[in-house]
Amino acid sequence: MAQPQRVVLPLQDVPENPFEVFVNTGDTVTAGQKVGTIGKAPEHIAVHSPIAGEVTAIIPMPHPLVHEVNSVRISADGTESQAPMQPFRDSGLSDVGEFFREKGIPLDYKYFATIATILVNATEFEPYLCSKERLILEETEKFSQGLTILLENSGADKLIIVVEKGKSSLVSVVRSLCNRIPAAVIEEVNQPLPDTIEAMIRQKALMRGIVKDKVTAIDRTIVIEPYIAVAVYDAFVLGIPFMEQLVTVAGSGIQTLQNMWIKIGTQLSDIIQQAGGNVSNVRRVTLGGPIMGRPQPMLDAPLIKKARGVFAAVALAFDEERKSRFYKRCACVRCGKCVDVCPARIPPNLIADLVEHKRFGEAEELGLYSCLECGLCYYVCPSIIPLVELLKLGKLNSKGRDSLLIFNSYRTLWT
Ligand code: SF4
Ligand code: SF4
Repeated sequence: MAQPQRVVLPLQDVPENPFEVFVNTGDTVTAGQKVGTIGKAPEHIAVHSPIAGEVTAIIPMPHPLVHEVNSVRISADGTESQAPMQPFRDSGLSDVGEFFREKGIPLDYKYFATIATILVNATEFEPYLCSKERLILEETEKFSQGLTILLENSGADKLIIVVEKGKSSLVSVVRSLCNRIPAAVIEEVNQPLPDTIEAMIRQKALMRGIVKDKVTAIDRTIVIEPYIAVAVYDAFVLGIPFMEQLVTVAGSGIQTLQNMWIKIGTQLSDIIQQAGGNVSNVRRVTLGGPIMGRPQPMLDAPLIKKARGVFAAVALAFDEERKSRFYKRCACVRCGKCVDVCPARIPPNLIADLVEHKRFGEAEELGLYSCLECGLCYYVCPSIIPLVELLKLGKLNSKGRDSLLIFNSYRTLWT
């Protein structure tokens, strides 16, 4: 994607979290300059400006997962000035984990030094998204070297790369890569691992026999996505901070499905426009895929690290009252589809109803906290009831901000 005119760089994951900011409004920054940190040292992740320009604001701004967090907004000045890129050998740091934090790479640092196994999830759970596969096929050397760097600098002595059986080109690339890295093995699976929190993927890996030993699977395995290996290579060898990501942009609101290298902090409206979409025509935009992606009520929100896709579905340009019922939320018709698909074996329709009536205790009794937030119930619901979002809202309201993920548009729903 062409360089955006502006970027918004969040400094927090949730509004209460600590952060540091090293620039002021009006400052000029170069591409690659560290502007702040998410969290505070030693448990921080650096934030770098992906463009050269001027800091125009440091205020709470929309975030794709929470309502608003403190962020730095930078407007491009049209120059290409770059901060010096320092690879590990020139960084003066001895701790590789600290170096990766300084380069803004989102790794599970709590376990980094004590892990036994690195599990690379190269399967794709979401329809439409294909950035993982493209990344491995097009950046094979960086991917391979990044994994080797991770192996050599963590406690891990085993690397498992999980791929789907049907993806023949991917399987053959990963197989040849495993022949070159002695600690690496390929694990071919029939079903992809879901795009969910790492703890869930570790449990799935144990249940499916991908990682055999329970203690290793639960306490000594880190799960990484392929982009992490590429980012590790870029940082360790070339000194480039993690500032852009290969993202699939898809959906009926986009002319052609495409994978684009997009700067972190680019606003979703700019991404959709660059991909050939018309922002005023798209009705449903999710950050991530159509199933488990986060619905975005505001397209001012920026692309954040870890996001691999933007899904934009088009709407018919009718007034609300003239829209087909297929585009409107309707009453539950008791079809039971959401119950059929729910992997947690809970009744999403009943729980969502209880949450809407603020009967959180009863919702909890019916299994509110067993919900994995997979999004399948919402995907199949013919009445377009935002089931998963209501369940997240229920968790948020009954357990405060300890909820698994904080629902970004809860204010809208609650009214
Ligand atoms: S989001 Fe929760 S309730 Fe809905 S299908 Fe997934 S696990 Fe079940
Ligand atoms: S899928 Fe939707 S309409 Fe069908 S039972 Fe569940 S909530 Fe009701």
